[in-house]
Amino acid sequence: MHTAVLLAIGSELTVGETRDTNSGDLARSLSREGVDVLWATALPDRLPAVVAAMHGALAAADLVVTTGGLGPTPDDLTREAIAAVMGELPAADPTLERWLRNLFERRALPFPATNLKQAWLIPSSTAIPNDHGTAPGWWVDRNDGRVIVALPGPPREMAPMWEGWVIPRLRGLGLGQERVTRTYRLTGIGESAVAALLGDTLLRDSNPIVATYARADAVDVRISAVAEAGRSPVAILEEAAAAVMALVGDHVWGRDDDTWGVALGREIEALGLTLAIVEIATGGSAAALLGEHVWLVTARTVAAGSAADGEPAVIAGAIRDETGASIGLAVKAVESGDDTLVMLAAVGPWGRAETSQTAFLGGAEGRRRAGIAAAAFLHDILRRQASAG
Ligand code: ATP
Repeated sequence: MHTAVLLAIGSELTVGETRDTNSGDLARSLSREGVDVLWATALPDRLPAVVAAMHGALAAADLVVTTGGLGPTPDDLTREAIAAVMGELPAADPTLERWLRNLFERRALPFPATNLKQAWLIPSSTAIPNDHGTAPGWWVDRNDGRVIVALPGPPREMAPMWEGWVIPRLRGLGLGQERVTRTYRLTGIGESAVAALLGDTLLRDSNPIVATYARADAVDVRISAVAEAGRSPVAILEEAAAAVMALVGDHVWGRDDDTWGVALGREIEALGLTLAIVEIATGGSAAALLGEHVWLVTARTVAAGSAADGEPAVIAGAIRDETGASIGLAVKAVESGDDTLVMLAAVGPWGRAETSQTAFLGGAEGRRRAGIAAAAFLHDILRRQASAG
């Protein structure tokens, strides 16, 4: 099982009333397992459209996963579509029918004849138990080794069936290839500049895959690799990682799941330091970015123009003296036209460092960027201290 196609079935998806979250969840899970999702499509409750999409998917992929359309009403037609694609006739399975009738009896409800189709199977299908609803799923084995999996639409029914039943079975069939990934987290450079530095050769390669993402707290460069031509995925990844670091390494502040709090904490703890921050007119964005840590002794916010407002370098020195933290850091945001002037100062055992820079945009976005600028400023200082010491 190396490739998959995802089909989200339901007119509520194609008219935009429901968002297709199932495909994203399944795609993430399959990618983690080393399966390439070739495409994901949303389809209306129309038999010809679903049958055509299944034929197309089976021509390309080892695995086709559908969600939705397993309900009891005539417009729920996923089972009919699979039966048509397989050239098989559905019939009520006695065990499933008993289970289904029992669900209704337990609630003292009459059993609607329309619900009987939820007990259907075709000769090639196995029922996937649904502990949270009335629609069992289908696992369909094809002679060509391909597999169709049909799951109900509601995520709280779909997800446990996928994790608890389908994934273990797929693993049993030998799922995917080992894929290794690494993400470098960058600051002080835009996504397009990162892409330009990395160049088309790296970014267009299909193994390793190197991709850039503009996140709220970083520009990420994600590298992932599978084995190829006798080389291990790790060897392929390390080669690409060395190339990426040579091109953009100066901007890297973290890896994989690192947050700014984790990355700064690592440097601060390695140097045996503590930190106190004062933020002026940033809305507390630096503290929000960092989170709570033992090494963060104090994080104070001050309004512009208040008695505590002043020169960042003076404030940084004062908070250091007041709290006994080894580093005092002050960040001040000043609206400057459409952008934000960010003034930064740090006082530590090494002395004093000061800088100012313009952050793109004003208002809340400018204040948010001021928080990132403060974290990046401190990270830079700490890294220089670490390499000096
Ligand atoms: P059931 O019979 O248990 O309702 P079903 O397979 O018939 O299952 P649908 O009728 O297609 O499911 O969808 C039921 C509900 O599930 C939708 O109204 C929607 O809330 C949710 N749903 C369906 N498909 C998706 C999807 N792709 N992503 C997120 N939610 C979905």
